[in-house]
Amino acid sequence: MAARRKSIPVAVGGVVVGGAAPIVVQAMTNTDTADVAATVAQAQALAEAGSELVRVTVNTEAAARAVPRIAEELDRRGVRAPLVGDFHYNGHLLLTRYPECAAALAKYRINPGNVSIGRKTDENFRAMIEVAAARGKPVRIGVNWGSLDQQLLARLMDENSRRPEPREAAAVLREAIVLSALESARAAENYGLPHDALILSAKVSAAPDLIAIYRELAAACDYPLHLGLTEAGLGMKGIVASTAGMAVLLAEGIGDTIRVSLTPAPGGDRTEEVRVAQQILQSLGLRHFAPQVSACPGCGRTTSSFFQEMAGQIQAHLRARMPEWRALYPGVEELRVAVMGCVVNGPGESRHADIGISLPGTFEEPKAPVYVDGRLFRTLYGEGLVAEFLDILEEYVARRYGVASGAARA
Ligand code: SF4
Repeated sequence: MAARRKSIPVAVGGVVVGGAAPIVVQAMTNTDTADVAATVAQAQALAEAGSELVRVTVNTEAAARAVPRIAEELDRRGVRAPLVGDFHYNGHLLLTRYPECAAALAKYRINPGNVSIGRKTDENFRAMIEVAAARGKPVRIGVNWGSLDQQLLARLMDENSRRPEPREAAAVLREAIVLSALESARAAENYGLPHDALILSAKVSAAPDLIAIYRELAAACDYPLHLGLTEAGLGMKGIVASTAGMAVLLAEGIGDTIRVSLTPAPGGDRTEEVRVAQQILQSLGLRHFAPQVSACPGCGRTTSSFFQEMAGQIQAHLRARMPEWRALYPGVEELRVAVMGCVVNGPGESRHADIGISLPGTFEEPKAPVYVDGRLFRTLYGEGLVAEFLDILEEYVARRYGVASGAARA
């Protein structure tokens, strides 16, 4: 893992993005923002799942009127994740006509490709930046290749065609995306936004393009960078594509905040994108959110479903206990638990975890050794071993992460 790229810290409400701050997880609602009740419910669910910033689209006058009510209700419910407004074509009108909306949001996201940047006049962009500057709000310049500034792209394509050896169109497109972000940030500073009130993103839908673009962006500026693949897609495809692109960049120290843009199944759980973002960061060792279960994949040595069921039960137990554990046991999110299917790798992997169990594989003696801090702690037998293991786990967590033990360790 490379050292984190140095970026300037930007305060977004009570959350810091960039600098030495932990990489921030964020998510976006998909409710109609004008529907206050639905948006509050989803924003709360996202925040409770771990989204540290919650973005809502502000696309209509009704949405702009709803924003202060959403912010107020979230505050009343104790939801502290700052609210970010996503603005496109009419952002200049909404931010100026609805000052309570402008005040309630902690940050504005502006897409330079569909405001006036690059046109004869950039008055609309300027109007939004001036609202942000006057109110002391940071802005994310969020370039998206699906709505790239066409004048800028045409200019670069034209210049490219006049070169003795023109570059590939894809390379020019990537350059246009990077330039759009950088030129918009420069324009924003010219219109009065402080240098430390800007965050940049440049989203595309293919991982190789994402990696190339963010490498260039990272080298060209010190603004914090928001990573994410746009239109990542449904389910496993979206998760894998987002992980493939972002993991490379994060391992190179690039990225100050991330969002995983998954398309949920109809009626699906929007909070999945938060859990995936957390898992990416945790898998890379960049942040810890919840205890991790290492489970072997199982093979012909585990012919019954008992092993999969046990791994699932332990995972579910950890998830269910985390809200209480988090409050009682600082550091418990770094706990590592191993659930292994047989003696081949079971004892070894279990010893590497904080606490682990190795189940009996086919034709093995029906016993399950439990390892704690690398040593054999107890051997379990028979029907009740899941419950017994969970009891051992509970005792271990209380002993290792309890406040009294923390004081003793200190
Ligand atoms: S630990 Fe045992 S059961 Fe699990 S994959 Fe390896 S050999 Fe198979």
